[in-house]
Amino acid sequence: MPQAEPDLNRRILVLYVGGTIGMRASADGLAPQRDLPAALAARLAPWGGQLPLFSIQTFADPIDSADATPADWLAIARHIADRHGRYDGFVVLHGTDTMAYTASALGFLLAGIDVPVILTGAQVPMEVEGSDALDNVVSALTFAACPALAGVGLAFDRVLYRGCRATKVSSSDFAGFGSPNHAPLARLDPDLVVDEAALPRPDGTEPAFVIPEALDARVISLRVVPGLPAALLDAILDMAPRGLVIECYGSGTVPSVDGHMQTFLERLVRRGTVAVALSQAAHGGIRLGAYAAGSALVKAGVIDGRDMTFEAAFAKLHHLLAQDLPTVMVRTVLARNMIGEIRE
Ligand code: ASP
Repeated sequence: MPQAEPDLNRRILVLYVGGTIGMRASADGLAPQRDLPAALAARLAPWGGQLPLFSIQTFADPIDSADATPADWLAIARHIADRHGRYDGFVVLHGTDTMAYTASALGFLLAGIDVPVILTGAQVPMEVEGSDALDNVVSALTFAACPALAGVGLAFDRVLYRGCRATKVSSSDFAGFGSPNHAPLARLDPDLVVDEAALPRPDGTEPAFVIPEALDARVISLRVVPGLPAALLDAILDMAPRGLVIECYGSGTVPSVDGHMQTFLERLVRRGTVAVALSQAAHGGIRLGAYAAGSALVKAGVIDGRDMTFEAAFAKLHHLLAQDLPTVMVRTVLARNMIGEIRE
């Protein structure tokens, strides 16, 4: 992998939106604090000339990322889009629990952005001895200052993943993230090494990103399980979701639920819900139609989500459903690679 140099003259905006990285103990357990910028700036001071120029802001009310909603993704995307042009890169300090969702959503909302937008966080609060926070912030700033990188990435434990391919793999290890179906984009080893083969290849035809007014479509998920009750399928139909992510077994099989699954899927798709199938297996994705036990999905017109992560499929549905496109167009674009979220 070729070595790359961060450009230390780049100006980076660091945005704290919440998460363990800036949390402090409270009577109810760890909770976000507002005074992270000053504390973080003090800790980064000894790094002096080794980091790019940066300023740190706290975004609105920092939250535990368990409380993040698609409206929060939109607000972060707007904040960045409004400042695009004034900074050469962005670092978003975010809770790890839903960081992969936000990374995917920002990937779609800011598609084609020409500067790095790097999300990171920590497993242990910055003010606790032995925390991974500072190391992750330093890595994220280094990636954000690298001229060879652009677009949304997620940096953790010195590895940079493509945002729409990343997923949380550990709730305790410092190596908390992975991208099971895509090679990491870069790492600090200890110098910055970029895997050029894994980088997105813009061809100049990318449209400028447009941030939608709202991101509020009803998108839900169904994880199939042994003994899945038919009543759950009925309840989903009653909810009339606009989008449904179905987490199938292995390469794309679902239980027949005594014939209910077929009827459910056909009714669902006929009523206009855009349904996409993914695999519960972390690696490999699905191959719809490989097994008879997956034929109900094919017959009903469920989209083959191939090797997308759950987070990417969920965020992509939100993004597409926010654009007032005809359902047939949402289905077509959902099945296609947009920002590197699906293997070509
Ligand atoms: N619950 C925290 C959050 O996602 C966990 C973390 O940041 O690691 O905000």
